[in-house]
Amino acid sequence: MHNKSVAELSRALEQGTVSSVELTRQFLDRIRNEDGKYNSFITVTEDQALADARAADEQRASGKATPWTGVPFAHKDIFCTSGVRTTCGSKMLENFVPPYDATVTTRFRKAGAVCLGKTNMDEFAMGSSNESSHFGPVTNPWGEKRVPGGSSGGSAAAVAARLVPAATATDTGGSIRQPAALCGVTGLKPTYGRVSRYGMIAFASSLDQGGTMARTAEDNALMLNVMAGFDPKDSTSVDRAVPDYTATLNEPLKGLKIGLPKEYFSDQLDRAMEQQVRDAVKEYEKLGATVKEVSLPHAKLAIAAYYVIAPAEASANLSRFDGVRYGYRCDDPKDLMDLYTRTRAEGFGNEVKRRILVGTYALSAGYFDAYYLKAQKVRRLIQQDFINAFRDVDVLMSPTSPSPAFVQGEKNTDPVTMYLEDVFTIAINLAGVPAMSVPAGFVNGLPVGLQIIGDYFSEARLLNAAHQFQQVTDWHQREPH
Ligand code: GLN
Repeated sequence: MHNKSVAELSRALEQGTVSSVELTRQFLDRIRNEDGKYNSFITVTEDQALADARAADEQRASGKATPWTGVPFAHKDIFCTSGVRTTCGSKMLENFVPPYDATVTTRFRKAGAVCLGKTNMDEFAMGSSNESSHFGPVTNPWGEKRVPGGSSGGSAAAVAARLVPAATATDTGGSIRQPAALCGVTGLKPTYGRVSRYGMIAFASSLDQGGTMARTAEDNALMLNVMAGFDPKDSTSVDRAVPDYTATLNEPLKGLKIGLPKEYFSDQLDRAMEQQVRDAVKEYEKLGATVKEVSLPHAKLAIAAYYVIAPAEASANLSRFDGVRYGYRCDDPKDLMDLYTRTRAEGFGNEVKRRILVGTYALSAGYFDAYYLKAQKVRRLIQQDFINAFRDVDVLMSPTSPSPAFVQGEKNTDPVTMYLEDVFTIAINLAGVPAMSVPAGFVNGLPVGLQIIGDYFSEARLLNAAHQFQQVTDWHQREPH
C-alpha cells in the first residue's frame, strides 16, 4: 500500500479493500522502521493518528466521505497544530504547543485526512539543505549523506521514502520546489495569496506561500483542492473562486506555448542536468506544445533583492520571540535586557541570527532607502519580466535547481554558495506567480527536477501540464533503493 498514490489510496478506502486504521498502522510502521535513516519527522503523532483513522472509518461507513477521508499525510512543522508541538525546526519553539490550528491544518482536518506527524525542516524555513534544523539534518533517500534540499526537506524525503503519500510544505524562495527536485517528487508553490498563511509560522510574509508535495501531479491537485481558498483571517489571502484542480488534468496539451527563459539555461547549470531538462521539453513537443526562447532580463538580480527583502521581513517577524510571550526562555535572567538577549542568543541558530542581523541592518535609519527600498524596486522589475513573458507564452520551463542533491556539509560553510541553490526559484516568489517542480530524469543516480512556471492563478494549467507529462514518463514512479 505504501507505493500507492493518494488517489489510489482514496479509491481503496472507498471500495473498502482497506480501512483507514489499517493504512495508518502500515504507514506508522514504516516511519518507525525506516525514518532512523532519514530523520524526516520531528514529531510522530501515533495515538492521535489512530484516533483520527477510527473516526474516518466511521465517517466512510456513514456515507459522508471526501476523497481525503482516512488518507494519511504529514504537515511540515511550520503549520500550527492545536495540541501538537510545532517547532519550526528551532530550539526557540522546541516545546511550543499551539492552542490553535493553522487554516491549512483546519482544512485537512475537515476533509477527514489523517495527519501522522510533523516533518523536519530548516530552522524557520531558512535554508536549502535541511542542515539548519535544531533537530538534526535530514538525509535524502536517493543518496547516503546527500541533502534532501530545504527548507521542506523533511516533507520531500518522507514522500520520496514512501513514509507518507503526501505532505504539506512552504516556499519563500524555493523551499517546496528545490527539495521536491532533489528528492524526485512533485511539488507546487501556488500563487501568493492562493493558500492562507494563517497559523503558518512567518518567515518573510510577502513571499511565504503554503503548498503541496506528493509523488504525482494528480495528488498535488487533490491537496490543493483542500488547501486553496479565501481566508478572512489572512489579509493577503485572495477572494477568488477555487476550481476543482483535478477536473482539468486530462486536457490535451496541443497548442500549449512553452517559453524557455534564456537566463535559466546559463553556465551555472550542470550540463547533464540541462540535457535532462531539454529532453523533458521535447516530450512536451511530442504532446503538441510549441517552444520558444524568452527572456527574463532582471532575473539575475533576484538573489540579491531576495537577500535584502527576506531577511528584512524575517527580522521584523522574529522579534516576537523574546522569551516573554512563548517559546524558549533563558535560565535566571539578571534583568529584562539580559532575558531578551540571552533568550535570542541561545534560542536561535546561526543562519537565523545571520538573517536577523542582515535584515535589521537593511531596515535601519539611513540604510532603508539604499537597501530595502531599492530591493523593492528591483522586485517590481522582476515581476514585470514575468508579466511580459506571459503575454507571449502559457508556461515557462527551466531546471528547478542548478545541480542535483549535494553532499551534507559541502555548502554550509559558505552562505552565499548555499543561497545560489535558489537561482532558478527565487524570482518566482518575488513575482508571486505559481510554479511546480516535476521529476524529469536522473544524473548519476540523483533526481533532476523540471520547473514549470505559470501566470497568476494558473495552478490548474500547471497541474494539467505536469499530469500529462507523467502519463508519458515514469520518473515520478521511481523508488529510491
Ligand atoms: N533557500 C531559501 C532561503 O534560505 C528559501 C527558503 C524558503 O523558501 N523557505 O531563504
